[in-house]
Amino acid sequence: MPLENNNLITVTSPLLPDLDEFRELLKDIWNCKWVTNNGRFHNLLETALCEYLKVPYISLFTNGTLPLLTALQALRITGEVITTPFSFVATTHSIWWNHCRPVFVDIDPKTGNLDPNKIEAAITPSTTCILPVHCYGNPCDTSGINEIAEKCGLKVIYDAAHAFGVEKDGVSILKQGDMSTLSFHATKVFNTAEGGALIIHDEEMKRRVDNLKNFGITNEVTVVGPGINGKMDEIRAAYGLLNLKQVDEAINKRRQVAIHYQDALKGVSGISCFSDMPGVRHNYSYFPIFVNAEEYGMTRDELYDKLKDHNIFGRRYFYPLISSFSTYSGLPSASRENLPNAHRMAESVICLPMHHGLSEEEIYHTIDIIRS
Ligand SMILES: *Cc1c(COP(=O)(O)O)cnc(C)c1O
Repeated sequence: MPLENNNLITVTSPLLPDLDEFRELLKDIWNCKWVTNNGRFHNLLETALCEYLKVPYISLFTNGTLPLLTALQALRITGEVITTPFSFVATTHSIWWNHCRPVFVDIDPKTGNLDPNKIEAAITPSTTCILPVHCYGNPCDTSGINEIAEKCGLKVIYDAAHAFGVEKDGVSILKQGDMSTLSFHATKVFNTAEGGALIIHDEEMKRRVDNLKNFGITNEVTVVGPGINGKMDEIRAAYGLLNLKQVDEAINKRRQVAIHYQDALKGVSGISCFSDMPGVRHNYSYFPIFVNAEEYGMTRDELYDKLKDHNIFGRRYFYPLISSFSTYSGLPSASRENLPNAHRMAESVICLPMHHGLSEEEIYHTIDIIRS
């Protein structure tokens, strides 16, 4: 890794708090000497996030994988869990770590999300839960998924790691399903360096989740269940409080980047991208393009390497599919024939540089390389 990355165009760049303001908050922490376990900044961040995200309850975690593990625990999920292969590995790993069996279902090529029309065929008497992902922040077909879940008595946990602040018809996408999980990793739209959260709809479940993320401890002498340590500390909570103040501005800058890309790539044959979905407040967490090698005259990997040669670091997100990794590739649902759309998308995608700090020069340099 080069130390100087000034002339590299990276796929992402973390939103950082103002250093002077951060120093002030650190002084507060040093003064009161309360560094974790439901500290002042932790509680302030929970309240501020509920308000910003328009949700009733949130529980902060130390990363975005623990909320997935904890949601499955809190809802006592067993047996088979239907999920998408087109995601970051943590989605399926969380099922495996809960000793459940992941069942992969194909995606809708229009959104990259689990296709509700294909879910029912994958349901067996052992199915208890659906774990979809709002991929790239594109909202899932939540009404289609909800209908199946209600009919078949299944729980729904949304991996909303990409969907911070996404709304559909003015309503937070995080209100859907039984729970939603967020990641505040440095690469995400809103970050606390490492961090995450679980979105919960009622007070009783909020208590249960808070308990599970603190070893199952309810008081000095009582442990009521096999909990884990998922608590967010004061330093990250303070960092998060400061970042929350600038996240809207960062999303606006991302929108500008997306508009430049969308306009400039419209006429390039063999390159396609998503357009904004009607009624959706997008967060522009990623900017995937899809390469049709025949029309474009170059394969996806050739374009990926060419961009790299010009110091532009895209990412083949998500490639390979989760179902192609050795842990999961032996599952019957992992077969290529079961997942044609997911394979096509994984083999054609490049996520272009997308963050709040990109200059127009960098955006057009990237566009020029794709066009030339
Ligand atoms: C980032 C991410 C996660 C995991 O979050 P961490 O904070 O890195 O643990 C889970 N699912 C998806 C879809 C992600 O993109």
